[in-house]
Amino acid sequence: MLIVMSAAADESDIQRVCDTIERLGFEARPIPGGQRTAIGVVGNDGPVDAGRFVGLPNVREVISVSAPYKLVSWEWKPTPTIIELPNGTLVGGGGLALMAGPCAVESRDQIFRSAELVAHAGGTVLRGGVFKPRTSPYSFQGLGLDGLRWMREAADAHGLAVVTEAVDPDSARAIADLADIIQIGARNMQNFALLTAVGELRVPVMLKRGMAATIKEWLLAAEYVLRGGNEQVILCERGIRSFDDMTRNVLDIGAIAAARTRTHLPIVADPSHGCGRRDLVAPLARAATAAGADGLIIEMHPDPSEALSDGAQSLYPAQLDALAIQLKRLREAMLD
Ligand code: PEP
Ligand code: MN
Repeated sequence: MLIVMSAAADESDIQRVCDTIERLGFEARPIPGGQRTAIGVVGNDGPVDAGRFVGLPNVREVISVSAPYKLVSWEWKPTPTIIELPNGTLVGGGGLALMAGPCAVESRDQIFRSAELVAHAGGTVLRGGVFKPRTSPYSFQGLGLDGLRWMREAADAHGLAVVTEAVDPDSARAIADLADIIQIGARNMQNFALLTAVGELRVPVMLKRGMAATIKEWLLAAEYVLRGGNEQVILCERGIRSFDDMTRNVLDIGAIAAARTRTHLPIVADPSHGCGRRDLVAPLARAATAAGADGLIIEMHPDPSEALSDGAQSLYPAQLDALAIQLKRLREAMLD
């Protein structure tokens, strides 16, 4: 529920509403606006009695937030969330952020070459896993903090921001010190201890949709992070499981448009994990852009045939260059 105060409301009117919310056993979250203050009620699982607020001085309107997720909803915040990274990249609010790089950091040389290629294509965020949640314990598990330090250096050398995946609260805190976005992978979308841990940090979080998660579950997972006080969350559609084995996953383009109707958070798409095939990455990237994605995260490797993970879905550098040009044109056409 949101209690919207009239423009004439003073501190004591606002405090009275907050006290009433707290007496009901919930938490009051004042949201100061340009014209007037709204006060959100958090902590309730069911409906709250609007009658408790309607008659209070300078209460203008009581809006019930019907969705189970509140902080991520448009009702709660009617303006799009725009996340600004230290290198000036904006995620959300009309632009198209291009994040690219290898599936994993494999060596110092590989990540430096990758950073140069991403910058050359016009990307502004370097991706690369250093803590890899692999399906098999025998697969390459990532280089850990050494890899992250190399990625930071490589990104800085080319003016890029860094996104990398955390797999537990300890890795999240280490990543918060060195990277610009903490990625929560599909396999951890409902790892509530991890969501709570990144909610306590003040570094943007990119939350990938679980491979069998509904849109509602995805938004509720984001709600955990916002609930902790970290409002900088980027949603990432990365494909869901289906019966068809032609592609690794099915990139749910409709989910991008559907989530947009529910949340003010930026939404990006990962067409690489969304299909698992290099030849389908470009068409899916274009489709996601057309569906309103605020950005794309794309796997590219200096030499995909040598990649230690996800080589089959990694673009060749020249393919990323060509795709970036197309995406820019597409985005511009959408603004006409
Ligand atoms: C990744 O981005 O490298 C990754 C493992 O993605 P996902 O969690 O979507 O599988
Ligand atoms: Mn990968």
